[in-house]
Amino acid sequence: MRRFVESFVAGPPAARSRVVGAVLGAAVGDALGHPTEFLSHQAIRRQYGPSGVTGFELWWERDGRRFAPYTDDTQMAEIVLRALVGHGNSASAMDAVMEEIATGFAHWSVDPQGGHRAPGNACMRGARRLRDGVHWREAGGPADGGCGSVMRAYPFGLLFYADIERAEHWAIEHSRMTHQAPIALAACAAMAAGVVREVQGSAPATVLSAMVEAAGRHNAGTAKMAEAALADADRGADPDEVLGRLEGWAAHEALTAAMFVVARHERDFRAALLEGANAAGDSDSIATLVGALLGARLGIEALPADWIRDIERTDELRGLAQAAADALVMP
Ligand SMILES: [Mg+2]
Repeated sequence: MRRFVESFVAGPPAARSRVVGAVLGAAVGDALGHPTEFLSHQAIRRQYGPSGVTGFELWWERDGRRFAPYTDDTQMAEIVLRALVGHGNSASAMDAVMEEIATGFAHWSVDPQGGHRAPGNACMRGARRLRDGVHWREAGGPADGGCGSVMRAYPFGLLFYADIERAEHWAIEHSRMTHQAPIALAACAAMAAGVVREVQGSAPATVLSAMVEAAGRHNAGTAKMAEAALADADRGADPDEVLGRLEGWAAHEALTAAMFVVARHERDFRAALLEGANAAGDSDSIATLVGALLGARLGIEALPADWIRDIERTDELRGLAQAAADALVMP
């Protein structure tokens, strides 16, 4: 059933604003963390000063426009989101949507929109198997547990914000194209569940416990790691210490790092995105997850206007997010 989102009131901000905020928030986080990926805290500070990055530090130019480029996280999330927007109003369409995502990933691996941006090995391996005709459910490596699938799982929470079970289930199934390790499945489930609860307007603590519960349904270790980091946030632990420990290369670590940042900055989009982008390790993916969650919580109005303006393909991403808002699946 398709309805106009304006008829749905989730409390301020409106659902439409939350959907657009999540998509652009994730892309902004990705671009903020683009130059700091692979760097330690010390290396980030050596290069960008005592506060690390405080805005976009990497700029490209194309067709006379100067912009801050995102990475593979946004490229792949866009493929997922486009497939969902095209089919997302049909409960029986999972296989068709997954096939479309698989085709998108296969194409991405040889000719990605905008060129390759440090793609992950497991994503490239899975995509190669998809190109070879392997079924999407079998393409991912059984032991692959990097953050390459959780970084693109948030669209399921947006489109299926009214059906948390479906959001989780589809997010997990989509992970199987590239990542089948339990930590990757658990992280995808948690991310989808968290975004669902954010779009619904749940209290911050409720969102985080829904994420822990969703993770725990698929991997106890992921839930335990997330709980420990939330306890760290509660006691005011040093973010350098916690994020330095997590680094975010593995799916459960990226998820946990993002949850820790979101727990510390419930209402401050800018501070949260910068903390994610200045995290050691997989900064762009951690900041992507932070941006999706806080964007769905605070809405597009809370995201700094200059960051929205300067992000790569901002108009296309906003148009896609608006189409997603139009296609939201109602119960
Ligand atoms: Mg990336």
